[in-house]
Amino acid sequence: MVFQRSEKKIFISLVDVPKSYIDSDMIEKLSNIFRRRIIIQFESLSLDKFFDPIRDQYHSTEILRYFIFNHSISDGDKKCIIVRKDLFIPILTFVFGEAHLNGNYCIVSTNRLCERFYDRTPNVEIFKERLLKEIVHELGHTFGLTHCLNDLCVMHNSFTIEDTDRKSIYPCESCFEKLDEVL
Ligand SMILES: [Zn+2]
Ligand SMILES: [Zn+2]
Repeated sequence: MVFQRSEKKIFISLVDVPKSYIDSDMIEKLSNIFRRRIIIQFESLSLDKFFDPIRDQYHSTEILRYFIFNHSISDGDKKCIIVRKDLFIPILTFVFGEAHLNGNYCIVSTNRLCERFYDRTPNVEIFKERLLKEIVHELGHTFGLTHCLNDLCVMHNSFTIEDTDRKSIYPCESCFEKLDEVL
């Protein structure tokens, strides 16, 4: 008799972005880094109630809170919510994303990952690489990784898009060891 361990999954949940944002190459890389099955799904959710008209942005902590109280995923599964809207937390002018350290949920905004945002010609390769880095970074937090001082490590904090562009899609050796312990 074959005794199968329940397989833990990572859901990439698309709210207001097209499926084409996540291609098979990204799925493969995510699956290799976190050694889990990656499932792409669409989330039917209006973000209106998270909108702050004074800031003209969406409150990422409130969106994460909504998921914690209204959704349930199996223990150990992770969900990364992808939105196009610009996100903020009150102490910062914007965030690329947010995560619950050691939690189940994280969120990434594509808004500032596109070259168009910086008045430059859109480039799909650059966009996808940035998106992958931000997804790996936020998922890394859900696996307990904190910010890394190594500016080439995916767990280095991005305050600007240059920070994101500088870093790799992968954790550094030290962060990888920490990740390896929890996987
Ligand atoms: Zn972070
Ligand atoms: Zn690191």
